Amino acid sequence: MPLQRPKGTQDHLPEGSPKLGLDVRASAFAHVEDTARRVLERAGASFINTPLFEEAEVYKRGVGGSTDIVRKEMFTVYYFGTHGGYVLRPEGTAGIVRAYLQNGLKQLPAPLKLWTHGPMFRAENVHKGRERQFHQVDYEVLGSSDPLVDAEAIWLMWEVVRALGLTGGRIKLGSIGDPADREGYNAYLREVFTPHLDRLSDDSRDRLERNPMRILDSKSGGDQALIRELEVRPMLDFLGDEARAHFGAVQNYLTAWGVPFDVDPSIVRGLDYYRRTAWELHHEGVGAKSALGGGGRYDGLAAQLGGPEVPAVGWAFGIERLLLALEAEGVALPRAGGPLLFLAAMDEERVGLAAQVALEARAVTRVEFAYRAMKPGSAFREADRRGAALAAVIGSEEAARGVLNVKTLATGVQREVALAELSAFLELERA
Ligand code: AMP
Repeated sequence: MPLQRPKGTQDHLPEGSPKLGLDVRASAFAHVEDTARRVLERAGASFINTPLFEEAEVYKRGVGGSTDIVRKEMFTVYYFGTHGGYVLRPEGTAGIVRAYLQNGLKQLPAPLKLWTHGPMFRAENVHKGRERQFHQVDYEVLGSSDPLVDAEAIWLMWEVVRALGLTGGRIKLGSIGDPADREGYNAYLREVFTPHLDRLSDDSRDRLERNPMRILDSKSGGDQALIRELEVRPMLDFLGDEARAHFGAVQNYLTAWGVPFDVDPSIVRGLDYYRRTAWELHHEGVGAKSALGGGGRYDGLAAQLGGPEVPAVGWAFGIERLLLALEAEGVALPRAGGPLLFLAAMDEERVGLAAQVALEARAVTRVEFAYRAMKPGSAFREADRRGAALAAVIGSEEAARGVLNVKTLATGVQREVALAELSAFLELERA
């Protein structure tokens, strides 16, 4: 058997491949990325690319040492001469903030809106919608603590998925307050859970020390039953005045703009650097347990990475999960098309000439040519197989007269086009 790709990864395949689901179709990923670019760049966001690997410290500090991502899911990159200090990026935000600080992007007009897309890596248990290499669209705004920026960010996430044709889905919105509010809440949680240590899962017992709020996020059924039984109060009860006012303002904007959301006290987010606003986008097609996307305010991150305080907010959604949701709704994304023209020579002596005509016509549009001589019937069939709109053949007689015989495949109409006029003809056909 030929070698296989690693578990939890996918090949993104060209049109026409066998077994071509939406989630492995290369053109579907390109379409999501193009749509995100259009929506986000109209909002003033600039594209940024950061390395696929960073020092482990970026994520230890930036994602949080107590998170599953950092404790269990990072892929270490070894290469000759290092001590295993690099890891593949599990998410985009920490690297972008690292780049913002390192490159002095604070000097650009604030708020600075950045976006990116690309692969992320987590060593997870693989199942549907949970891959080890997956892809995200990521939007970050740095340099403002205005709730209007949070609301615009949520609007933009919603707008990108709407522009892709998704009609369902709902935003769950919460606030995790400011650090002092969280301290108060964590103290309360320790008080509530400590008498029931024996009923908590191993992971949650660990969380009780490191970060009790994450117990609420637990995937263990036993933990969730205990949370219900103890009637644990939500974080929202512990918000200070400022965080409460900020949360109210975000909701007012979203309501005024018609973005549907539910206030959901259970939104705690797994990552340590979040402050105040946090949200998730859920969709039936992805399943109840996993979010299609999520975001939040992370004013504390820049300082954790060694920079000054930089208020910021951002979001990411997984492209694979978005494609699952689109597939569940039956949304058909545009397919990559074929060439406008497929050109073949009818005898071996004219193969070079046909290639030359095609090479020049590519100044106007997408043109492919045959690498060997073909009879007109096979040339037209081959053109059809490649998804071409037009097929043309050239033989000794056409070459002598300086013309091509062009067939419109949809109608079967054939005509002669002078070689000198081919570009002008293709311009018209393209329009
Ligand atoms: P997170 O950084 O965990 O909030 O993830 C943001 C989004 O990335 C999620 O809502 C998913 O859409 C996507 N995502 C996270 N982990 C995975 C994974 N292992 N496989 C596929 N998508 C993922």
